[in-house]
Amino acid sequence: MSECIFCKIVEGQIPSKKVLETDNILVFHDIQPAAKVHVLVIPKKHIASLNEVQEADASIMAEVVLAAKQAAEQLGIADSGYRVINNIGSDGGQVVHHIHFHVLGGEKLGQLIGNS
Ligand code: AMP
Ligand code: ZN
Repeated sequence: MSECIFCKIVEGQIPSKKVLETDNILVFHDIQPAAKVHVLVIPKKHIASLNEVQEADASIMAEVVLAAKQAAEQLGIADSGYRVINNIGSDGGQVVHHIHFHVLGGEKLGQLIGNS
């Protein structure tokens, strides 16, 4: 059985607050929100990180990106703006090794990159 916590969330073995779900992707609220709105977008397929994404995953990764957009619309932050973050590996600060995109918004976000 998978020891991956996000696979367990996909399988329903760990509860989550779901925002949207399709056959291939899941969006759920982060358990430790870093902004007023903070959700995670994952493919249901276990892919450890962007480093492991293959050509064959192109359409699933497109679905992930589109789900981030759809979640932002659904959560009412599309117009005010938001940030999508993907952490990769140790220096990137990745803790959960199942690829996920953070969608953060609902307030003015602190500077990370760029000039905002
Ligand atoms: P990262 O540092 O990019 O790997 O982010 C992992 C994220 O997963 C963190 O923001 C955690 O708060 C979040 N997280 C960990 N466990 C859970 C869980 N059971 N449900 C929801 N979010 C979680
Ligand atoms: Zn997994």
